[in-house]
Amino acid sequence: MTGENPVLVVRDLHKHFAGGSRLRGGRHTVRAVDGVDLTIAPGEVLGLVGESGSGKSTVGRCIARLETPTSGTVELLGRDVSRISRREMRPVRRDVHVVFQDPYSSLNPRMTVGQIVGEPLRQHGEGERRDRTRRVGEMLERVGLREQMRTRYPHELSGGQRQRVALARALVLGPRLLVADEPVSALDVSVQASILNLFLDLQRDLGFSCLFITHDLSVVEFISDRIAVMYLGRIVETARRETLFADPQHPYTQALLSAAPVPDPADVRRRERIVLSGDLPSPSDPPSGCRFHTRCPVAIDRCATDNPPLTGVTAPDHPVACHLVTAESGRPRVAAP
Ligand code: SF4
Repeated sequence: MTGENPVLVVRDLHKHFAGGSRLRGGRHTVRAVDGVDLTIAPGEVLGLVGESGSGKSTVGRCIARLETPTSGTVELLGRDVSRISRREMRPVRRDVHVVFQDPYSSLNPRMTVGQIVGEPLRQHGEGERRDRTRRVGEMLERVGLREQMRTRYPHELSGGQRQRVALARALVLGPRLLVADEPVSALDVSVQASILNLFLDLQRDLGFSCLFITHDLSVVEFISDRIAVMYLGRIVETARRETLFADPQHPYTQALLSAAPVPDPADVRRRERIVLSGDLPSPSDPPSGCRFHTRCPVAIDRCATDNPPLTGVTAPDHPVACHLVTAESGRPRVAAP
């Protein structure tokens, strides 16, 4: 973190949805996000990682105000945008853009590449037509697309090219924050690498901050400055990338990392895999106390009743939500080292 004011501050964010049907046994509340705190510094990439269903995409959608939070605040560049109207949100949209997992469904099939990338400039009344045309050309070049692509339609492009167009559209206004929701997981592995390298080049050149949402640990390790681990609607651990990979403290983080692929076969033999029992519980009926207690290999009685706060007891910049992480004992040993 730099000494500058953060670009994004999220406090005690909750997003609950109504689920079920009256005809099939009644309504219930789905607690997709249930008390999330996050901060992103200028130029920082925060990776948000967790299993499918952990609520990480909902966090991203609340930050970009594609969803209105149930409670809590989302401060973007010092302004609380969590409950402002659509009209008030319009100028804020210059500063926050989203890149989705599937560029095919997020690009208008009736618009050409030039129209798609130029659309945010037009919507925000940026410059004359000639100026907008020039800026679209510059942005296409930055994302590695030839000028001739300008007249193509999304269905004429490959998956990687479509994601380059989505990146160009998201960055053409020079936003301060990009929310990237699984932006490479729908692509072939070879294409993923080129898009991730492009993303890092753009991020270094343009200096935007980013919330990078993914379930893929190798992607989050490659891309992030800091990483937040999410489990069933809550953040359970946050740390700088190198710290998290060298010293994961929460039992869930330890289990996640133990299952991640490693390039060196000798490392696989040295490492003990932690297999979690059961599936992720339903966010409509989350476990009491620590939400991980139904799958945690080292749970104690207290875990079923008391919700552990996310605090930096071992280091202020490495908060962990676990009763067993203490200043004296350090991290709980879930598996033999
Ligand atoms: Fe496991 Fe208890 Fe720590 Fe939760 S609080 S991670 S259940 S030991």
